Amino acid sequence: LTDASDTLNSGPCRTLDGIEITLLGNVGLSADLDQVLRRGMAGVGLFRTEFLYLQSTQRPDTEAQRRIFAPMAKRLGDRPLVIRTFDLGGDKLPPFLSLDENMDPSSLSLRGLRFSLAEKHLLRSQLTAIVQVAQEADVRILFPMVIGGHDFAQAISMVEEVVEECQAFKRPQIGAMIETPAALFCLDEILELADFVAIGTNDLTQYLLAADRELSAESELVTAMHPAVLRAIQQVVVAAKRWNCPVCVCGEEASDPEFAELLIGLGIQELSISPSRAGELATAIGKMNSATASALAQLAQKCRSPQEVRQLLTPESRQEQ
Ligand code: PEP
Ligand code: MG
Repeated sequence: LTDASDTLNSGPCRTLDGIEITLLGNVGLSADLDQVLRRGMAGVGLFRTEFLYLQSTQRPDTEAQRRIFAPMAKRLGDRPLVIRTFDLGGDKLPPFLSLDENMDPSSLSLRGLRFSLAEKHLLRSQLTAIVQVAQEADVRILFPMVIGGHDFAQAISMVEEVVEECQAFKRPQIGAMIETPAALFCLDEILELADFVAIGTNDLTQYLLAADRELSAESELVTAMHPAVLRAIQQVVVAAKRWNCPVCVCGEEASDPEFAELLIGLGIQELSISPSRAGELATAIGKMNSATASALAQLAQKCRSPQEVRQLLTPESRQEQ
């Protein structure tokens, strides 16, 4: 049963001074959608499709995926469903791939989009399912671990080929995850091609700080609150504004009210979070002021450590400002 405080007041979530913040849900299994709907969230900002097949011994085909995506899109009605293509490789290696002796399981060999472009058959069958379902719903495609304009352009071409093969009338919106340092240095070429981008703070923090993302739960140093990560996010926001491209943040830390305040201060207006945190975050956002958030975000970028950033956010420090 859902606690009433976990349910958003249907309609957009706003800061005290009226800035609209869209809260979308991260889902791993189609059953997680129940929570997104129960909590009145604005849609699904990140569907991690690889979770569906982590135990599979057989390669998923188009029809199997269409049977999963179609009912989800239907239940969401006119709300968006952002389907991320398989983010496989590294620790996410389902049995149907581990059986393949050519597969190298190390996390920095084939991963995310690079993996998909090496396994075109698998990507094509997934894109076909997405394109079919997108004809009647607001279904969007998100590519993980994009490292520049080249891999992203190849992925987009494949979507276009699939649209033509399916004789579809609609090309779904296509987005890139910004979660590698390379993507930060290639922002303009990615933004030129993207309909939207999604910042993944889990991997962006991991790769910027050269620290395993599993550490971030316990470490005060390995966190998206690190000024380097905040400066990176600011760069994405500024560049995306130039290209008039929507930006969402979908890493785990986006659901932490303190971090979310900094994100809002950096100009982020879309967050995709675990649905279980939605009620708490909506309440916290309702008490925020965007001018305060923006002043804090500017100061935070000048800090030298995550601890200094956290210090800025304490009630005592806020009073002094
Ligand atoms: C991220 O890296 O922040 C992200 C949202 O994707 P995932 O956690 O699935 O890698
Ligand atoms: Mg990631």
